[in-house]
Amino acid sequence: MPRIKNKSVKKNITKKIKVKKEKTNKKSVVKEKVQNPTVLQLNKKNKKSPQLVRGMKDIVPPNSSDWVKMYRTADAITEAYNFSFFESPILEEAVLFARTLGKSSDVVSKEMYVFEDRDGNKLALRPEATASAARSYLTSGMVNMSQPVKLWYYGPMFRHDRPQAGRYRQFHQFGCESFGVHDASLDAEVITVAYNFIKDLGIETTVHINSIGTPEERAKYIVELVGYLRSKRSYLSEESKKRITKNPLRVLDSKEQQDIEAMEDAPQIVDWLSENSKQYFMNVLEYLDEVEVPYVLKPTLVRGLDYYTDTVFEIFADSNEPLASQGALGAGGRYDLLVEELGGQPTPGVGFSIGLERVLLEIKSKREKEKQNLEEGQKMSIKKGKKELFFAHLGEPSRKRTLALIEELRRAGITVRHCLGKVSLKGQLELADKFQVTHSIILGQKELQDGTIIIRDMESGIQEIVDQKKIKKEVSKILGIAY
Ligand code: AMP
Repeated sequence: MPRIKNKSVKKNITKKIKVKKEKTNKKSVVKEKVQNPTVLQLNKKNKKSPQLVRGMKDIVPPNSSDWVKMYRTADAITEAYNFSFFESPILEEAVLFARTLGKSSDVVSKEMYVFEDRDGNKLALRPEATASAARSYLTSGMVNMSQPVKLWYYGPMFRHDRPQAGRYRQFHQFGCESFGVHDASLDAEVITVAYNFIKDLGIETTVHINSIGTPEERAKYIVELVGYLRSKRSYLSEESKKRITKNPLRVLDSKEQQDIEAMEDAPQIVDWLSENSKQYFMNVLEYLDEVEVPYVLKPTLVRGLDYYTDTVFEIFADSNEPLASQGALGAGGRYDLLVEELGGQPTPGVGFSIGLERVLLEIKSKREKEKQNLEEGQKMSIKKGKKELFFAHLGEPSRKRTLALIEELRRAGITVRHCLGKVSLKGQLELADKFQVTHSIILGQKELQDGTIIIRDMESGIQEIVDQKKIKKEVSKILGIAY
């Protein structure tokens, strides 16, 4: 809004506003009987409000700040490892996923949202982004860019699964894909990014890893596996019995106790790998040793999707939360046949995706534990050593000046907590307490007149009166940043 310099213009405007207010007050007395919004709301009360769709979630405060943090962490780590941002449409041709994930995969056969649009096209809400990335690699001309083409994405995916903790119908994934080069260093690079993304968010994990070799090696192994499964048929769960012909590899990662027991002596894919495949896998592991990513070898890890070759991995939280056993935080692998499957030239690729709702559940449960420890008087402080400020105001003129000072601080790279929406100083200081800030800045009528501010140490209660002109310097000193 332009600044009004001329005093007589300002007076005029104030007069007009007053007259208008009086007029509307008179009118409202008559109209209120008919238009009182409360009355309207009551009338509507009988109508059912639209509800959130099952399995979907809003991202709202206070957790929404964790989402921003996760996004920033993903942005920072992918920049450091030179991945470029990529976003594909949420709608794709349904055939894209049927061809790449495999018709017998759970995602395609049971979980995908598929529908016909008004033109009769069979479309799907994307259940994952790797197939979309491969499609885009071909249709957006990335084939002609310098290889490898390294992409990262962050967004919603859709699967019509049974909703439960850590499993939703709309969920979000952060992922990386690396197209065009077949080299163990690139497998190790994406695993390093995935592992450290979660670590940077304060969650310790371990990578479960295996190699499923080439399609030829896998085909030979599957013959052996099917023979074994047939011999154990009567011990298997109903679901696994069905999988013997449909998708025998999936029996290996069944969570049913009777399947786990029946699979104890199952043949292991590693025994069907060629020397080449074994050497490649060893190379990946050597890289992981070098970069100190903790991993365990999991001979039964095969992943349920058709497009994987060689390296496959899943990332599990080290916490012993029930959630940790329920599912991996992230997963990925090498998919050298994917681009070819979509009609392109043979093009190797490797990538991962991480389920952000699951990471968030880990962050929340860790925070809860830390809070409990704090309450029990243990020394684990969430904000150990972290200095933070709250800017409180008292009276309308101070509120205006407060906004100006907050902006002045922001320009100097300093953010402070504040709540212009609260009028009482008590309410604001309660909020400051809730945020566990170490210091409060208070700007009252007197300080406004004197051109000063009060800085209060929240723990000791000691207050200091400081010249407003020195606010940046004083605040920087408290926060321990250079001025
Ligand atoms: P996937 O694409 O199946 O390999 O899954 C990769 C990651 O996405 C998993 O490790 C989960 O963290 C997450 N994920 C998969 N399905 C869901 C779901 N229905 N709800 C929430 N997260 C999911």
